[in-house]
Amino acid sequence: MPDRKIVIIGGGVVGASVAYHLAERGARDIVLLERADALGAGSTGKATGGIRAQFETEINILLSLYSLEFLKNWDFDCEYDARGYLFLARDQDQLLYLDATRFRQQDLGYDDVYPIDTEAISAVVPGLNTDDIVGGSFGLRDGFINPLALLEGFITGAVSAGTRVVTSTNVESISVDHGRVRNVRTASGTLECDAVVICSGPWARPIAATAGVDLPVTPQRRQIVWAQTERQLPAGLPMVIDLEDGFHFRPARDFSFGSNRAGSGYEVLFAYSDRDEGPSESTEFDEAFVEKVYQRARHRAPFLADSSPVLEKCRAGLYENTPDHHAIIGGCEVEGLYLACGFSGHGVMHSPATGRALSEIILDGEAKFLDVSSLHIDRFANGRLLRETGFI
Ligand SMILES: Cc1cc2nc3c(=O)[nH]c(=O)nc-3n(C[C@H](O)[C@H](O)[C@H](O)COP(=O)(O)OP(=O)(O)OC[C@H]3O[C@@H](n4cnc5c(N)ncnc54)[C@H](O)[C@@H]3O)c2cc1C
Repeated sequence: MPDRKIVIIGGGVVGASVAYHLAERGARDIVLLERADALGAGSTGKATGGIRAQFETEINILLSLYSLEFLKNWDFDCEYDARGYLFLARDQDQLLYLDATRFRQQDLGYDDVYPIDTEAISAVVPGLNTDDIVGGSFGLRDGFINPLALLEGFITGAVSAGTRVVTSTNVESISVDHGRVRNVRTASGTLECDAVVICSGPWARPIAATAGVDLPVTPQRRQIVWAQTERQLPAGLPMVIDLEDGFHFRPARDFSFGSNRAGSGYEVLFAYSDRDEGPSESTEFDEAFVEKVYQRARHRAPFLADSSPVLEKCRAGLYENTPDHHAIIGGCEVEGLYLACGFSGHGVMHSPATGRALSEIILDGEAKFLDVSSLHIDRFANGRLLRETGFI
């Protein structure tokens, strides 16, 4: 039904991907509404830009493998840089976890992910402290992308196929009549529509509530430290992640629209999974976080110890967590209302697969290229929660 009027709420990378994939399939009456005065103003503009297929659950692995393939073949350059993700295990339990998940990843088609011993780890990242490391896992297809370039690619394609993008427009409510979507209301008027897709990231819950849908999506602040190093970073440095506390680092790049800027080799991003961070909508960077990260950096990566934080580039954004740390993708009890939210920190990397899935669900009734039914919101009511132990 390409002539259905579809409203997409949210101009981050997910909304843009849904618009792009719908437009690609011939949908011509699409309006994307974004409340900020520019696209990418939400979590997308704060993301680290990591992409990996080293996940625990089948569905996360498949979403990533699809997205990696999409990025490799797409003609829009979103700076995909396959430097790899290096996970470090501190004990045998963590190593067994990495082994078990790697076997699953390989079974599902990720053929270039390998076990790695401490000697090889030191060769990949000279200077890394491996004294308390027992081994790891290295996925060579994993790496980095520029989240804003990805968003730009989707929007460019969607707009050239007729999608209307309206910024500075807050959707106040979604009206439902006899169990189906009727319109969305904004300060500047009401938009009649046949379908609505909620892609409003960490702010998805309140807008879904106006349609009577209880969406278990909770915002949580995540912070990143940006630092300038004295010496050039090891050549080809991948994303390095300590499984114990989620401490991770990667070479930094400036992400902006149309940038295509390689990193200088003297800038690094690092962070860790702060278990003390409760639910909140704060996007204020807390300078106390710098020392917490440096404590970990001094231990794991002594070559970062003498780097200097660049406070104006340190940032805080919001993860959009669900109780099982998996996205919510699909329809719901309101006819014509679709959900693409709750990515729990993986929305950039999963946006290509999500956009395609939603376009097929809306236009064909189900996603045929990949079974995403395990991500339906029903799982919370039915107790069929998924499990992903990964830290970042
Ligand atoms: C520090 C940090 C690091 C991250 N690193 C990674 C990473 O390495 N890899 C990865 O894949 N993911 C990462 N993420 C997660 C990723 O950023 C998100 O999962 C992703 O950006 C979600 O995209 P989105 O389009 O759903 O949401 P957003 O980008 O947040 O977009 C939602 C948009 O909806 C708009 N909106 C909200 N409510 C309304 C309304 N009522 N009306 C109109 N518009 C509305 C908002 O203004 C916003 O622009 C990271 C996140 C953070 C905070």
